[in-house]
Amino acid sequence: MSDIVHNICNAVTQVVGSSAPLHAPEVSGNEWHYVKECLDTEWVSTAGSYVDRFESELAAFTGAAHCVAVSSGTAALHTCLIVAGVRRDHEVIIPSLTFVATANAVFYQGAVPLFADCEMRTLGIDAEKLDAFLEVNAEITKDGCRNRRTGRIIRALVCMHVFGHPCEVDALKNLCERWRLTLIEDAAESLGSYYDGRHTGKDGLVSALSFNGNKIVTTGGGGAVLTNDPDLARRVKHLTTTAKKPHAWDYDHDAVGFNYRLPNINAAIGCAQLERIAGWLREKRLLAENYRAALRAVPHVESFQEPKRCRSNYWLNVMLLDSDDMDLRNDILKVLNEAGLMSRPIWIPMHMLEMYRDCPRDDLSVTEKIHRRLISLPSSPRLARADAK
Ligand SMILES: *Cc1c(COP(=O)(O)O)cnc(C)c1O
Repeated sequence: MSDIVHNICNAVTQVVGSSAPLHAPEVSGNEWHYVKECLDTEWVSTAGSYVDRFESELAAFTGAAHCVAVSSGTAALHTCLIVAGVRRDHEVIIPSLTFVATANAVFYQGAVPLFADCEMRTLGIDAEKLDAFLEVNAEITKDGCRNRRTGRIIRALVCMHVFGHPCEVDALKNLCERWRLTLIEDAAESLGSYYDGRHTGKDGLVSALSFNGNKIVTTGGGGAVLTNDPDLARRVKHLTTTAKKPHAWDYDHDAVGFNYRLPNINAAIGCAQLERIAGWLREKRLLAENYRAALRAVPHVESFQEPKRCRSNYWLNVMLLDSDDMDLRNDILKVLNEAGLMSRPIWIPMHMLEMYRDCPRDDLSVTEKIHRRLISLPSSPRLARADAK
């Protein structure tokens, strides 16, 4: 084993002990109690008080005026695109460096993803580079921003806060205004992350959260849409609950809706999880600090720290190999995983996936480089507790 690989493995062991999952959910609060209440009262499914409670607590936590709970982060993204007016043959700018759900949601609408490059400081979309790309390839027409190469209208931009590190929201907001795009935030990974004091997801017209099992707060599976616009919130609620018109008995629907609602049982778990989030955020910051200290002394690698003016939730802690050493990525992954220290590469960039290979895109050299340099490390909050290692 090379010295580099050995030193990195030692540093990670020093932080988290001898074995650790990537991100384990923690069910140690009122989850049992609240779920039992759902079962005892037989309010298990599509109605019940925990859904309302979860929605209002999420709104309070994020500062969004409205929140609609849905069945997954992917469903939340899909609904965001619908209410933002994305339709067949539109293009939607998204980072290539994202989880596949961001691209899939665009495809569900019959629209085409246009891949933007990211920047090193935030891992999110590089606004300056994107602006230069649009300058060359796009024009403002009476129908909106048009991609001159494909002839399609670019309707929206979905930014994503990678591993809970906020992207350059202000710059992207300006870009969207200039190019007449609707800003949507994929905040699936960034519950508890702040950009310039504002919770992520507050700047998009609509934004998506996820409560999948590996996220900082889980409902088993679930998601939510955040928005400040009361009419959009009503539309989201309506569309995600089969677009049924209110009536005492009739099945009357006024649109093709979706069964995207969050069951009460899942919302009950979410309410219990939210009671614990402040402590988890503290522990995750401490864990990030521990990684930083341990990796500082290790050559050829650096831990990734929150961008300026941001407070990250450190959902997943990550390290970046020096550019000269990126060929060691797989060796390091192999050694760490064999030692029981569960670590992962970042997602294969969207433009390299079979089904999205032919989509329009900017130069994606930074994305490709990050893909080869980045390793995510065990990040459960409990790893910051000395007694839990
Ligand atoms: C997890 C995640 C999603 C999808 O959420 P699900 O609840 O798993 O559907 C979307 N985007 C990003 C960036 C994610 O990390």
